[in-house]
Amino acid sequence: MADIRDVFRDLEPELPELLEPVRLGLAPSMLLLFTADGDPAKLHFVPDPTVKAHVPCPGARCPVCYVGDPPVRVHLLPVVNVRTRAVEVLRVPHRRGPGTLATLLLPHFDDEDLQDKLFVVTRDGARHGVEVQPLGERADRCTAAIEGFRKAREEGLSLLVAFPEYSAAELGEVPEIRRMLDAVGGWDPPENGSGA
Ligand SMILES: [Zn+2]
Repeated sequence: MADIRDVFRDLEPELPELLEPVRLGLAPSMLLLFTADGDPAKLHFVPDPTVKAHVPCPGARCPVCYVGDPPVRVHLLPVVNVRTRAVEVLRVPHRRGPGTLATLLLPHFDDEDLQDKLFVVTRDGARHGVEVQPLGERADRCTAAIEGFRKAREEGLSLLVAFPEYSAAELGEVPEIRRMLDAVGGWDPPENGSGA
């Protein structure tokens, strides 16, 4: 037997480990930016219905790279999604120029009032749109979510957790990828099934 107060007294509150990716589309996403600190990543989009997500390239012996589909380099940036009030992960492609997310967002990181701005972001194919306006006075600034995220980040949270992780061997078993591998021929899963 144990006193519930003794059991939980020294237990640290658990921080959210699951981060969702921001899903940009034609419908505007309302985002709050609070940091320039992110993580670089190389992602494949896997359209197979069993995956239907961006997944980190497992690197050596990656079957998606093998069939001629290289990963997209992105910078992962934590942002607050106003709709969910949660910190989510924005994929900023490594591209500069008109209509690219990096070019549209970068000037704002020098602003002292970054956290007083609302970023309304849309995406149409590879082209992004960003409209910036002052954050409404009554807006929820989601400071608790941001503080929780900062604490988890200090403890080593990687933004890659927002994306499902597949080893090279596991990706090779995804039906659509398997069919392409069989068509090309010559791919073998890494030894011991580890894709690292
Ligand atoms: Zn790859």
